[in-house]
Amino acid sequence: MRCPFCANDDTQVKDSRPTEDSSAIRRRRQCVSCGARFTTFERVQLREVTIVKSGDRREAFDRLKIEQSVALACRKRGVSQERIDQLISGIQRQVETAGEPEVASAQIGEMVMEGLKQLDSVAYIRFASVYRDFSEARDFEEFASTVADAAKE
Ligand SMILES: [Zn+2]
Repeated sequence: MRCPFCANDDTQVKDSRPTEDSSAIRRRRQCVSCGARFTTFERVQLREVTIVKSGDRREAFDRLKIEQSVALACRKRGVSQERIDQLISGIQRQVETAGEPEVASAQIGEMVMEGLKQLDSVAYIRFASVYRDFSEARDFEEFASTVADAAKE
């Protein structure tokens, strides 16, 4: 399992136990390289879903990829791993039960942004800036100010 913090491939399982409702196996891991600790889950996958990316590229739905980008966005923001897991599980369930064999990656990006918006505005801005690929500082400033305005309401 690759370390979400330094991308080192070598991590050790420190602890392994079922979640409270026994729907998943929770593993505490530690990166051999940077020492970071993180949690992984082994879960039932209801069905295979293909993600359609820009340029018509296709790949299998991969929860881990969403986890990594959300973990990066939430880094040092004090958002609990539990809330992050809930957000991603919610998205995964939505994707798997929608009944569509293919889902646009843009749609998943929007779901993640929608979820992060509720969790942490900085994480939301971070994710959106990568996801929307802001090419100019001006784009970013505009977006950040709309988030700040929304937070005031
Ligand atoms: Zn690491």
